[in-house]
Amino acid sequence: MFHARVGSGQLHLRQGDITQYLVDAIVNAANSRLAGGGGVDGAIHRAAGMAELRGACAAIIDVIGSLATGEAVITPGFNLPARYIIHTVGPVWRGGLRGEPARLRDAYLNCLRLAHEHDLQSVAFPAISCGVYGYPVEPGARVALAALREGLEAGLVEEVNMVLHGPENLAVWSGVAEELL
Ligand code: ADP
Repeated sequence: MFHARVGSGQLHLRQGDITQYLVDAIVNAANSRLAGGGGVDGAIHRAAGMAELRGACAAIIDVIGSLATGEAVITPGFNLPARYIIHTVGPVWRGGLRGEPARLRDAYLNCLRLAHEHDLQSVAFPAISCGVYGYPVEPGARVALAALREGLEAGLVEEVNMVLHGPENLAVWSGVAEELL
């Protein structure tokens, strides 16, 4: 675990299952079709309720066509403890020279902006892009924590929880956080 005050807010790094978090919104590492899938996306769909969440995502896709990398949209949390789900699309890692860091930063900050617009104060994030999308954990943590610091310093939300899967991930993220925060 790692905790820091950032601006007037709080940043917590924790290990666990994001679907269990009682916060205003959890973030989903979605795909551009909001089609559900494996990893954290699948876990969130199962816990929220497949039919309900698929329906809400399909209604958004009907309007916007697809969700661009780095952008974010919001749905209800349905059966989750969290009231809302903010869906964002992280970049697929292609070596790091194709705009991946900027897109990953956008993903974190646009989630915080959307939370702010909906007057949500507590948000939980998974390690966006650091699973199937292949973003290496340490550089991913560095970009994510810098973006979260920026958002907290700007007062977008009061509380950010980074929910990491497994003790190795938590150790790497905590090391980067000690350095950056
Ligand atoms: P992406 O496609 O953006 O890489 P993934 O779902 O494959 O998304 O992985 C993102 C991160 O979420 C990975 O570090 C993975 O271990 C983690 N993860 C998977 N399930 C959960 C969960 N239930 N709670 C929190 N993190 C999770």
